[in-house]
Amino acid sequence: MVSEYSQRLERIAAELRRSRLDALIVTAPPNIRYLSGFTGSNAVLLVPADGEAVLYTDPRYEIQADEEVSCAVKVSRKPLLKAVAADLARRRSLRRIGFESGRIRYADYLSLREALPASRALEPQTDLIERLRMVKSDAEVEAIRRSMAIAAEACQKVMASLRPPAREAEVAAELDCQMRRLGAEKSAFETIVLFGEHAALPHGRPGPRALRQGELVLVDVGAVLEGYASDMTRMAVAGQPNERLRRLYRVLLEAQRAALEELRPGVRAGMVDRAARRVLERHGLADCFVHSTGHGLGLEVHEAPRLGKGENLRLRAGMVITVEPGIYVEGWGGLRVEDTVVVTSNGCEILTPLGKELIVL
Ligand code: ZN
Ligand code: ZN
Repeated sequence: MVSEYSQRLERIAAELRRSRLDALIVTAPPNIRYLSGFTGSNAVLLVPADGEAVLYTDPRYEIQADEEVSCAVKVSRKPLLKAVAADLARRRSLRRIGFESGRIRYADYLSLREALPASRALEPQTDLIERLRMVKSDAEVEAIRRSMAIAAEACQKVMASLRPPAREAEVAAELDCQMRRLGAEKSAFETIVLFGEHAALPHGRPGPRALRQGELVLVDVGAVLEGYASDMTRMAVAGQPNERLRRLYRVLLEAQRAALEELRPGVRAGMVDRAARRVLERHGLADCFVHSTGHGLGLEVHEAPRLGKGENLRLRAGMVITVEPGIYVEGWGGLRVEDTVVVTSNGCEILTPLGKELIVL
């Protein structure tokens, strides 16, 4: 891993030289972790185009930084951006300084600007590190695979004992607990468990609603392991599914299969979305699919690329993304099936180790 961090830093430094920047101030915690290995909550990373990166953190993290980080570490008692600015003021050769404009608070930006000499230019940068993060290394894919295995096992266990009149919030808590028991650091997002017509809300919140016989169950769950997120959705029904549910679920699986078959290096992200959408359109369900077909994931649960309408970005081997078409009908309920997959040299590999048939409880 140590050499992976220094390789990543070198690639960012090369980007900076190409953009004629002298340094980059990194403020987004996942980006700091990606480049340095530091997992604490308070840090700033200064990456010069030439020379060694420096991680700034406060005394609470001194020991942790020494353990985790292979670049230089500076422990500061003052606001970290002030410490960075003071160093930049001394290093006269660093004049054009990039910063993560989408990842810094406005007040922090203002204090940074104020602390820097007027001769230093602050140049807004977007997605510099996020672009690099899109393609995962083998070690990252393995972390996501293990994170996915934990979420899947928890899902299987909890589904196996799920019966009316369980409550949504209870089941969600049970999933969180199982994932922790299986070794997860935490849940990747607020676990979603929705019953019946409540499942028509793609990101509904589990509440006190109790499961009734005949109702749908939507479970959307993910773990975090070694910082890496996983994400999956499975569906169940309490009792025998009726004809409408069977038909819609078949269409949904067909849409997901169409998207999965589209996945390979060189394909534009928007084409994967189109493949899923076309199946739903053919069945008159286009309006019932209200979100994009998938998203990248890694150190964050939602990251680039987005598999959305008209996205031109071309997929590359090593990208890890979700494929999650859905059908939502207000007043009736919602269906979604979601896998985490990695793009391979000639297609994709599904990392979610569970079947996709509708589970009958
Ligand atoms: Zn999900
Ligand atoms: Zn997702």
